[in-house]
Amino acid sequence: AKSAGGNRAELADPEADARAITRHGLTTALPSALERGEFFIEYQPLVHLGDGTVSGAEALVRWLHPQHGVLGPDRFIPLAEHTGLIVPLGRWVLEESIRQARAWREKTAGPLRINVNLSPCQLTHPGLVQDTVDILERAGVTPDALCLEVTESALIGADDGLLKPLRRLAEMGVDIALDDFGTGYSNLANLRRLPVSVLKLDRSFTQGMQQYPADPVDLKIVEGIVSLAHSLDLAVTVEGVETSAQADQLRLLGCDTAQGWYYARPGPPEHLHTLALADATG
Ligand code: C2E
Ligand code: CA
Ligand code: CA
Ligand code: CA
Repeated sequence: AKSAGGNRAELADPEADARAITRHGLTTALPSALERGEFFIEYQPLVHLGDGTVSGAEALVRWLHPQHGVLGPDRFIPLAEHTGLIVPLGRWVLEESIRQARAWREKTAGPLRINVNLSPCQLTHPGLVQDTVDILERAGVTPDALCLEVTESALIGADDGLLKPLRRLAEMGVDIALDDFGTGYSNLANLRRLPVSVLKLDRSFTQGMQQYPADPVDLKIVEGIVSLAHSLDLAVTVEGVETSAQADQLRLLGCDTAQGWYYARPGPPEHLHTLALADATG
């Protein structure tokens, strides 16, 4: 922290200084990290709540930093968004995970789908639609294998300019999921305006169902969201499922797919082969 008026007390926060230095160091290291291939992707399975089979996976990016070890996205995505590096980084994530989806489709019979997170900066970048089309074509993957996850907060008050690329992608057959749904205080009626086909219910709702029976108010809220979503033809995915009690209650409430440590932690791509092959062979 810089001292504005020479106040010594303001200087005496070595931890804050260390954090700022790390943040600065990480920010300046981002472009070369991308060039040197220090990013990698872990995949977390999504399962059908009905029968527990794997429907696909979410791509979650990590940074293997030469000094700091593996860094989670919360440490560097905000920095990449701030500097604009998120555009090439996001493009790399898309390319890499679609290539992976192609490999899964060759090795497993099931039509595994890949979910990729989009940052708001990628949404406003004019190359988004063409980049996505090119990446899918190069990999020989059809658009229906891809689901792009956009946070509810990124779309609050979204104007047509922002929604247009998403509409184009949706028309092509790419699914759009509204991520972290329920945290953004959006107008539910607004949902009709958005080209989304999946609601991803935020982990905070799942947390209220850790005990059996769950808090009755939490149950009512999720029940309401699910019935609204289904009446609008949207599928409901729940994230952060850690226990069988949560899985059972969310299934009873009619949620369609689930993701969480109860099923599998994020892991290397080979992990998904094993899970999906286990489904195929019973
Ligand atoms: P998210 O999209 O909401 O992803 C779900 C997060 O919950 C992941 O954290 C995942 O590892 C974690 N998680 C999964 N199951 C459980 C569970 O049962 N319990 C708990 N407590 N957590 C669980 P992660 O990997 O640290 O990612 C954090 C956020 O970083 C993501 O949140 C997403 O917003 C962002 N992110 C990750 N990869 C990318 C990317 O390629 N591009 C962009 N723009 N953002 C990304
Ligand atoms: Ca997500
Ligand atoms: Ca989420
Ligand atoms: Ca989240």
